[in-house]
Amino acid sequence: MRTKIKSLRCRECLREYPAQARHVCEFCFGPLEVVYDYQEIKKHFNRRTIERGPDSLWRYWHLLPVENPENIITRQEGFTPLIRAENLGKYLGLKNLYLKNDTVNPTFSFKDRVVTVAVSRAKELNFETVACASTGNLAASVSAYGSLAGFKAFVFIPADLEQGKILNAAVYGARIVAIKGNYDQVNRLCAEIADNFGWAFVNVNIRPYYAEGSKTLGFETAEQLGWRAPDCLVVPAASGSLLTKIYKGLKEFQDLGIIPSVKTRVFAAQAQGCAPIATAILTDNEIIRPVKPATIAKSLAIGNPADGFYAWRTVKYSGGSAAAVSDEEIIEGIKLLARTEGIFAETAGGVTVAALKKLVLEKKISPRDTTVIYITGNGLKTQEAIADLVKNITVIEPTLESFRRIL
Ligand SMILES: *Cc1c(COP(=O)(O)O)cnc(C)c1O
Ligand SMILES: [Zn+2]
Repeated sequence: MRTKIKSLRCRECLREYPAQARHVCEFCFGPLEVVYDYQEIKKHFNRRTIERGPDSLWRYWHLLPVENPENIITRQEGFTPLIRAENLGKYLGLKNLYLKNDTVNPTFSFKDRVVTVAVSRAKELNFETVACASTGNLAASVSAYGSLAGFKAFVFIPADLEQGKILNAAVYGARIVAIKGNYDQVNRLCAEIADNFGWAFVNVNIRPYYAEGSKTLGFETAEQLGWRAPDCLVVPAASGSLLTKIYKGLKEFQDLGIIPSVKTRVFAAQAQGCAPIATAILTDNEIIRPVKPATIAKSLAIGNPADGFYAWRTVKYSGGSAAAVSDEEIIEGIKLLARTEGIFAETAGGVTVAALKKLVLEKKISPRDTTVIYITGNGLKTQEAIADLVKNITVIEPTLESFRRIL
C-alpha cells in the first residue's frame, strides 16, 4: 500500500522531518504540520467515495494522518448535525444561520475529533501511554479513548476546573493529576514530562496529528451544506488550532476540487477575560500578547495560545474579524441558545452565540450571509455557570389548590 503521509514540515522554515512523535522544528522552534501526498489521495477521494464512508469523521480518512485503518480507535465521533437555526436566526435577524452541534459527540465535546485521530496515530507509532494537558474537555476524551485503546492514560488539568469536567474525565478511568496553576502552567509542565517519559501527549508531541482532527469540522460543514463553503464562520478559540484547521479543511476540499472556490470569512469568538487572539485581531497587531485568564469560559482559558498567530493570520487573510464577550453575555448566550434552538451548550457555546450577536450588531455579519457557528461542548459539564436558574423553581403541596394559587 502507498502511504499518504509524506512527512512533518515546519510551518516557518519548511524543513521536513519523518512523521514521528515530534511537534517543533529543531532549527527555528516553529510548529510542525502533517504533509500529505495529495496526488495519491486524489485517486481515491471524491464526493462519491466520501458519501459511501462511515457516519463518522472517518469518512474523511484519506485526509487524516492514520495510515492503517486497523489502528483507528473510534466511537462514531463527528458527522454531527448541522442544524438550520431558524429561531435563533429570526431573533438575530439572520436569514441563513446554521449551527454545528458538537455537543453530541461521545464525550460531549468536539475534542473527540482530535483525540480519535491522536490516539489512533499513537497506536500506529507504538506508544503504550497517552496523556494530555487539558482545559477540561480534552481530559474526558483522552480518558475515554485511552481506555478504549487499552493504553495507560494520564490527564493533567488546572485544579480549579468545573466538577462536571473532572467527573466526566474520571469516569473513563484515566489517572487525573490536578495542578495548582492555570492551563499555561499545566502545559509547560506537560512539555517537560513528555520529554522525560516517552509518552504520547496528544496535544504536545502528537500535536501535529491531533490538530488535523479539527479539519473534519470544515469538511462536514461543506458536505452538509450541499458541497459548498459558507460565507461566514464563527469559531470559539482557545489555542486557536480549531479555527485554523476548520479553514484548512475548507481549503483542502477546494484544492482537491470537491467544492468550489472558498470565500469564507472567519470570525474568532473569545471571552473578554481571556481574549489574546481576539485582541490581536481587533487591534490589528500580529503579536499575540499573553494574558492571565479570568473567565467562566474555562475550556477557552488559554492565556498564551500556541496557534494564536496562525489563527490571527487565518482571520485576517479571510477578511473576517473577532468578538470578545463578558461573562454575563456568555450566560445570556447559553440561555438564548437553549430557549431558541433546544441545545444546551457549555460556556464556550455561550461565548460563540454572544460573539455572533455582537458581530451582527456591528454589521460584520449581514442578514443574508450563510453563517455557521460551532457549538463545541455540552452544557451539563458547566452547570455552575447557570446555577441561579434552579433557585427560581416553584415548590408546592401535592394539591390542586396549591397549584391554583401559583398561577
Ligand atoms: C478546546 C475547545 C475549543 C477550541 O480549542 P482550540 O485550542 O482553539 O483548538 C473550543 N470549544 C471547546 C468546548 C473546547 O473544549
Ligand atoms: Zn523551522
